[in-house]
Amino acid sequence: MAARPMPYLDDLNPEQRAAVQALEGPVLMLAGAGTGKTKALTTRIVHLLNTGSARPGEILAVTFTNKAAREMKSRVGRMLGEAVEGMPWLGTFHSICVKILRRHQELVGLKSNFTILDTDDQIRLLKQLIQAANIDDKRWPARHLAGVIDNWKNRAWTPDKVPAAEAGAFDGKGVALYMQYQARLRDLNAVDFGDLLLHVVTIFQTHEDVLAQYQRRFRFILVDEYQDTNVAQYLWLRLLAGAHRNICCVGDDDQSIYGWRGAEVGNILRFEKDFPGAKVIRLEQNYRSTPHILAAAGGVIAANKGRLGKELWTEAEAGEKVRLIGHWDGEEEARWIGEEIEAMQRGTRGMRPFSLDDMAILVRASHQMRAFEDRFLTIGLPYRVIGGPRFYERMEIRDAMAYFRLVISPADDLAFERIVNTPKRGLGDKAQQKIQVTARQHGVPLVEGAAILLREKGLTGKGATELATLLDGLARWGRMTHDADLSHVDLAEIILDESGYTGMWQADKTPEAPGRLENLKELVKALEQFENLGGFLEHVSLIMDNESEEQGEKVSIMTLHAAKGLEFPVVFLPGWEDGLFPSQRSMDESGQKGVEEERRLAYVGITRAEEICTISFAGNRRVYGQWQSQMPSRFIDELPQAHVDVLTPPGLYGGAYGAAAASAGPAVQSGLEQAAAEANVYNSPGWRRLQARAGERPVSQPREQRSSVIDAQAISAHTVGDRVFHQKFGYGAIIAIEGDKLEIAFEKAGTKKVVARFVTGPDD
Ligand code: ATP
Ligand code: MG
Repeated sequence: MAARPMPYLDDLNPEQRAAVQALEGPVLMLAGAGTGKTKALTTRIVHLLNTGSARPGEILAVTFTNKAAREMKSRVGRMLGEAVEGMPWLGTFHSICVKILRRHQELVGLKSNFTILDTDDQIRLLKQLIQAANIDDKRWPARHLAGVIDNWKNRAWTPDKVPAAEAGAFDGKGVALYMQYQARLRDLNAVDFGDLLLHVVTIFQTHEDVLAQYQRRFRFILVDEYQDTNVAQYLWLRLLAGAHRNICCVGDDDQSIYGWRGAEVGNILRFEKDFPGAKVIRLEQNYRSTPHILAAAGGVIAANKGRLGKELWTEAEAGEKVRLIGHWDGEEEARWIGEEIEAMQRGTRGMRPFSLDDMAILVRASHQMRAFEDRFLTIGLPYRVIGGPRFYERMEIRDAMAYFRLVISPADDLAFERIVNTPKRGLGDKAQQKIQVTARQHGVPLVEGAAILLREKGLTGKGATELATLLDGLARWGRMTHDADLSHVDLAEIILDESGYTGMWQADKTPEAPGRLENLKELVKALEQFENLGGFLEHVSLIMDNESEEQGEKVSIMTLHAAKGLEFPVVFLPGWEDGLFPSQRSMDESGQKGVEEERRLAYVGITRAEEICTISFAGNRRVYGQWQSQMPSRFIDELPQAHVDVLTPPGLYGGAYGAAAASAGPAVQSGLEQAAAEANVYNSPGWRRLQARAGERPVSQPREQRSSVIDAQAISAHTVGDRVFHQKFGYGAIIAIEGDKLEIAFEKAGTKKVVARFVTGPDD
């Protein structure tokens, strides 16, 4: 066969080329962020196909997300310059395992068309088993058991293989329940997510012929993000590669960030032992980031112990230092970042202009997204949330909103349906049907239908009692909305507490539960910016209206976890505060393990940036209406000073501190609170440190200062016809002025009368 041209090799450095061309035998590419591991892996696939060494169906390529799989597929196609007829085995562990399991399900006692349970189904099933075993499911909730079982499955432990040391799990009944659960799944002809991998591993371990068949089929195996494989995935790979040993794994021990989900960075270290003679390739040239960004990331990760240790270098020009800025509070942080993004889009202050697509905000916890989403909606800055629903689409937020809606408008049947049995009140499908029928018969909303049903004793037992409690609650909360002494923020908390909704998540022991509770707190915080519950609900429905997926440039918002493997010219890393990042949970853990994983996450975050990286923190965050003073993250201390530029927050110079206070809302403006908050910020060691670093140099704030105080004063200058901006409704033109009220024709929200205090402009 005539040699085909290999132009793609010219784009690689010698080490990458070696990794691409060493087709036979085990290869481990161990290298830092941005050194071209993924690029080399993708090129390897191209090379396998181009040289005729493998057909598409003979290559098994594992990526961490479906998005990464899609990208890799399209890159391979582009590099080959021809459409690849399918790469059937390029995907995530899960997607590949479903395919295999569907061909051999009978070997693990499943029938064809088995179903894959989602988390809700899984929990319901476990709950039945817990109750049948006479275990108090308040003390021992199903979600806790689900976490325990997932964990065991990640370690490839079938019930008979769970080690004795785990015998105490779930009040000593974990293993027995695990066994029952698996039996029940088999009866239902169903699997959960963890089973997908575990069943395939079991099949491979017990049926040599099947294993041999796949060993022959997958002549070449490639794995990206190898540092985040768990034990079950590792076993699966080792079994498949056992015969031909043509396996190429790429990873970075410094980017192992899924320890909490059972990933074992030790898999990397074990590679050479499992595959003796493995070719280990190290890449040291970084093609992604500027030297300042690399040095900052390197400085932080150096504080971790037991690293393999890698040096990175780059030919890129020095560029901007990593920018560090402290803010008054989280809202100010969001406001500042919004304005920075707009400025960078315009290309001010000597930087090249950036497209919104070039910019990303990477947060530690998903609840941080709310402040940005609200702010961006307000200023009309297009954004997308990657790897998860937007804040107001999250389950717990929708649940909570349904409670609020029902309190404001009792006839909201959709809201009633959503929460009538959430938390569980013993009102299953049958009871709910009865409520529906009664309501329809009487031509009344469901709430009233439910009341009639209770009066007519159409419902008895636990369900009836709980329903009565719910209806009482709804009526009481409804009356409370008229109570002038009770703020709507307090009322929201009362509703979530008394309904049992908050309690439901507090009792929940799954890894997601703390995040959901944080989101609920964040929701309450968002309420503070509105005059009442009704106004807030209106705001959210406006947000939902704007949802239609418009094309065009957008800023990306995502968690640090979701950002793995990605890169952006401009990256913002907000919320670098102890307790938030590193997370409180990691700090509470004994030993350094938790904080070290957080530090790797910080490394992942910084190394996503190509040109401009901005780290920020807030001196105060408000949680449930209470000021909480925040300490800058310990990771900030670890940033090497020579590579960091400390920016000065607006308001620090020029005595405009009150501006920041005003922007934080009316509550802060009371002198006492403001003084306390000021003391928090100024007395914190982090702030003093920052000040010292900034020195006497009055770092210029390279954007026009637009503080709320100034804006507020500008109101009196408003005249009919001005184009103005409202925090809730966006841009609009003033039609009429009546005292402190303005009538405005908003561009998106229609004509409304609003309080002048919330309006800024004219548009400048
Ligand atoms: P991460 O650890 O973050 O996943 P990575 O090691 O997988 O990073 P890639 O994403 O493959 O790195 O590459 C980072 C950037 O460098 C990409 O934009 C890629 O196109 C570019 N790149 C990689 N290798 C080279 C090379 N030899 N010459 C020029 N650019 C390269
Ligand atoms: Mg990569």
